[in-house]
Order: sequence, then structure tokens, then C-alpha cells
Amino acid sequence: MDTLDHALAAELEEIRARGLYRRARRVESMAGPRAVVEGRPVIVLGSNNYLGLADHPALVRAAAAAAAEWGAGATGSRLTTGSQALVEDLENELALLKSAEAALVFTSGYQAAVGVIPALVGRGDLVLSDALNHACLIDGCRLSRAEVRVYRHADLDHARSLLTDRRRFRRCLIATDGVFSMDGDLAPVRALCDLCDEMDAWLMVDDAHGTGVLGRRGAGVVERFGLQGRVPVQMGTLSKALGCQGGFVAGSRVLVDYLLNRSRSFIFSTAPSPAVAGAARAALGLVAQEPERRDRLAANAARLRRGLRELGWEVADGETPIIPLVVGPAEAAVRLARALEERGVWVPAIRPPTVPVGTARLRISVMATHTDADLEEALAAFASARELVV
Ligand SMILES: *Cc1c(COP(=O)(O)O)cnc(C)c1O
Repeated sequence: MDTLDHALAAELEEIRARGLYRRARRVESMAGPRAVVEGRPVIVLGSNNYLGLADHPALVRAAAAAAAEWGAGATGSRLTTGSQALVEDLENELALLKSAEAALVFTSGYQAAVGVIPALVGRGDLVLSDALNHACLIDGCRLSRAEVRVYRHADLDHARSLLTDRRRFRRCLIATDGVFSMDGDLAPVRALCDLCDEMDAWLMVDDAHGTGVLGRRGAGVVERFGLQGRVPVQMGTLSKALGCQGGFVAGSRVLVDYLLNRSRSFIFSTAPSPAVAGAARAALGLVAQEPERRDRLAANAARLRRGLRELGWEVADGETPIIPLVVGPAEAAVRLARALEERGVWVPAIRPPTVPVGTARLRISVMATHTDADLEEALAAFASARELVV
């Protein structure tokens, strides 16, 4: 015990010395555009609750109703204790949203990724991964034991050059985020589809941040680019714009049947709880019925980008609610985040290893439920904090 604590404390000290020590803040209010963090009221500018659904009364009611009807827990793996009808209904609705034949729900997006990739590829296979892919895709690739090759971010020429010996391998998978989680840019999905066609590879798009946000129906990046039917493995999460918890994969009936038989994180884990499934169905209803939430989200993101630029911050163009303010050194990002928090704005500082060394940043994310007043107040805080860093 003593030696364990000793070893770990020494390592923590090292992490602290590099300015990379992290802790989770205590939040004392419901998920929303404003919150109370350790006693301080703040505007939340770091949430993935893009559409403002996590605190929507319809989701809260649906969660309570589902628990009342189906119980608090799912009681086992679906292969042993069965699929609650509620979860199957959710999967059918997810398949419809994604223009796919079928969908399979996992307990998180992370679980989906680490369950799907090793089920699809293994020894003797090849997997290509974008350099800025989310950790769950990286871990899924590692777990698969396939040969993993990383291509420079969104660089099709580089990806193609890594496929010259494609024939040496049995299967080939290309895995990419749809919307990159720390930069907010979109993957070149059409070009990746073409590359996969040409090279006899399968494309897996993790659309954690596009689902509910992009496309006319909120179906995500595939709809945004009009590529329905061309991405065989569409992964997503229920925990971001949909405001709940859980991950999913949508694709052909064969893909889903295969994953149900082969995906270890699906097979050896208890199914999502009824409350979560109920809330997710309510969220899908709102995504379909209230497209104005997406319009408001886009308008809020545009307003914030414009306002930050007017204040002299460098902000890249983008069409997602994710706005990175790259600061550089980890300490500088933390200092800026602290200054903003003192001014009532809560934005997470993102440091290595989540982002590459030297690109520590504030990851600003805006919500459909931020009011004009919220955004003006936030911009005023950015104006005053900026004087501290320049
Ligand atoms: C958040 C995220 C995930 C993980 O989803 P969870 O449901 O939170 O486990 C997967 N992929 C990407 C790109 C993400 O941003």
C-alpha cells in the first residue's frame, strides 16, 4: 500500500511540475447554459450539451417514466437477459436518423469504439487513423492488434501513401472523427469514401459531435455532405447533443448482427439503463421536431466567433459549436481559463495529452440555449481577460 502510494505520488508530482495536473470541479447545479461551480455562478462555455437537451423537461420526464415502467437497471448483458423493448425502439429510431438499416447501442461512445474496431479488424489487417482522432478510436485501434498507421490530420495524400501495400493485408479499415472534438473541424468524409472505394477499405466515422447538430435533420456529418449509404460504419454518442449517455453504431443489418456476436464491450457489459434509453428517445424526438434548435446553435456559434475576432482573438472559421482558442503552453491556457472563471465564464483549458504538445487551448463550446445576454456577458469577460494575457 505504502509503496503504491509512494510511486503514484511521485508521478503526480511530475505531472504537477509540468503544469498538467488535473482535477474534476464540483458542480452544484443542473446541466444548463449557466451553472454553479464550487459556489460561483458561471456561464458554461465548455459543455457538449449543444442543443440544451440534458436539462430539458421532456428528457427528464422521459427518464423518470422509463425508470418507472422498466426499472432502474437493465439487469444484464442483452445476450443473457434480453433486450428491453425500449432499447430496441431506440435503436430503430437511431437507424432511421442515420439512414441505416439497423443500429446497436453501447453504454458509452468510448465503449462503442473499443468494441467495434477490434471486432472488425485484427491480426493481418490494416487500420488507418487520423492523427487527431479521439482517444477512443486510438484505443480501439490498439486493442485490435491490426497494424495501425496514423495519417496527418485530414491529409488524404498521406492516407493514400500509407495504402500502397494494401494488398499485403486482408481487411482494411479507415477510422476518423466526423467532427474533430478539440478543433471542431469536419473530416473530409467524401474524399475518404472515395479512397475506401478505390482501395477496398471500410470507412468508420465517429460522429460524436455531429449527431443532432449537422445536416438538415440533424443526422450528422454524413447527412451534411449528402453521403447517406456510403459510410458503412457510423458511430455516435447519445451523450453530447442528445444530452443523455451511451454510444451507438449504425449500419447494415449484417454489421449489427455481427457486432452483437463479436463486439466484446457489447457482449460483456450490462445494457444501458431504461432511464437513459427513455431520455434518448425523447431527445431524438426533439431533434426531429425542433430544427430551430440547430439554427439557434449555429447563430450562437457565429456570434461568438465574430465577437472573439472583434476582440483580437484568432479564431478559425467553422460550422460547428466547437471553437478552439489555441494558446500554446499549458500554463498559459490554465491561466486564461482561471481569469475567465473569475469573471464568471467557465471554459475548460485543454492540455496534452488530450491535444498535441504546444497547442494547449481553451475549448469553447456554445449551446442553443445560451441567450444573447449570456453571449454578450461572456464576450465582456473575454475582453477583460485578454488584457491579462497580451
Ligand atoms: C466524446 C467522444 C466520444 C466518447 O463518447 P462518450 O459517449 O462520451 O463515451 C467518442 N468520440 C468522440 C469523437 C468524442 O468526442
